[in-house]
Parts: sequence; C-alpha cells; structure tokens
Amino acid sequence: MKKFEELGLGQEFLENLKAEGLEIPSEIQEKTIPLALAGRDIIGGAATGSGKTLAFSSAIIEHLVPNGKVQALILTPTRELADQVCDAVEQFSKHKELRTIAVYGGVDINRQIRQLSHTDIVVGTPGRILDHLNRRTIRLNLVKFLVLDEVDRMLDMGFLRDVEKILAQCATDRQTMLFSATISPSMIHLAKKHTKNAEEIAVQSYVDHSKLKQVYYDLENDEKMSLLIHLLQKGEGG
Ligand code: AMP
Repeated sequence: MKKFEELGLGQEFLENLKAEGLEIPSEIQEKTIPLALAGRDIIGGAATGSGKTLAFSSAIIEHLVPNGKVQALILTPTRELADQVCDAVEQFSKHKELRTIAVYGGVDINRQIRQLSHTDIVVGTPGRILDHLNRRTIRLNLVKFLVLDEVDRMLDMGFLRDVEKILAQCATDRQTMLFSATISPSMIHLAKKHTKNAEEIAVQSYVDHSKLKQVYYDLENDEKMSLLIHLLQKGEGG
C-alpha cells in the first residue's frame, strides 16, 4: 500500500489532503493518480465509494492554471452526482484559486450563464451542457481535461447521442478519463473512440461495511416473491 506522498502530487495538494483527513490512497487512487498526472488517458473500472473523484480530479487540480475559461469538463449522469463531484473538487482544490461550478437542468439557466463566463471547471449533466452549447453560452474549445463519470449509468439513461455531440465540441488536444462501475462493450466502444492510447485500470469493488445492513428472513420457498414485493413497496433504503 502506497502513501499519497509517493504518487507525484505537489506539496500543497498533499497538505490539503492531510487537512481534509485523507491519509491513505484507495486502490483506484494509487493506480490512477501517477498516470493521470503524467497526462495519460484512462479507462477506469471503479464504482461510487472507490475514491474515483479524487483519482481523476488530481491531475485537473495540479495542472490547471486558473484563467476563468472552461478548461475541464466533467460529465455525470445525474444532478446529484454533479453536485457531489463539484463539492469534492472544491474540497480537494482549496489550495488553489480554481473556480468550479455544477451545471444541470431544472434550475435557473441565467445564473448558470453568468457563472459560465468565469469558471475553470464545469461539472454537468449531458442535457444541460448540450443546451448551453446550442445557446453558445459554453465553449469547450479550450478543454484540456475531459472526464466521463459513471459512463454505464449515462449510457443506461440514454445519453449516448448527447455525450457524442458534446465530445465533438471539445478540443481534441486534451486528456480524457472515463470511469464506470461496469465495463460493457458499449462503454469500451465509446471509450476507445474518444481516448488515445488509454491505460485500462480496474479495481476490486469496494463495500463500505459501516453502511451495509443484512437482514435474515425465515420463509417458505413460495413466500419469497410476496415478501420481496412487500419490501419493495415499503420502499425503505435504496
Ligand atoms: P468517491 O468514490 O470519489 O465518490 O468517494 C467516496 C468517498 O470517499 C468520499 O466521501 C471521499 O471524500 C472519500 N475518500 C476519497 N478518497 C479517500 C481516501 N483516500 N481515504 C478516505 N476517504 C476517501
């Protein structure tokens, strides 16, 4: 097991991680951060909870020089994930003057338009990013870092065409990183099409045992389905 100090991160970054209470890199971080810092494209098999956000944001935060233009785009399937990733990037970049905003549908677009005129990093959902491209309120020609987060969910939700349209607008001279909990043929197809000589990284899926609850029911075989329906209807938990 390596330490954060061995992955090539700068001193200020390391001090910030320490201040945030992060001490030992997760497996995806240990494998991804050195490659990401070296500018490599990455296809990562990693689920939520693996620490993938820090893995891909490390290179963005280390290398970006703030200039108020969109230099990094992180696409997520949902607005909740966009908010979560935006918060994490802000947390990991406290030592720098980078601006990060979350851009998704269902909220006032004019505020986003104002924010987009002076931000370095955009975390957004495909539909709203495409909307901004059509309105010409976002420019992606200076994007140096492109991340597709939870690609499998993005494809499941039918975002493939939107994602392709967005990628076509991004600068071609960029670093591209894709992360997905499952590696499917359609994910690989998309990844190969939009990355250059990408390094493929897979890690063991990680379960946070503190969040896991196991329940035991003693049943007859023919009662299983009705219990399942009952539990789903009760709708407790995820
Ligand atoms: P993610 O998989 O990126 O959504 O991260 C899941 C959670 O793990 C977040 O709350 C992170 O702040 C936290 N986290 C990320 N990296 C580490 C680490 N190396 N040690 C402890 N917690 C971490």
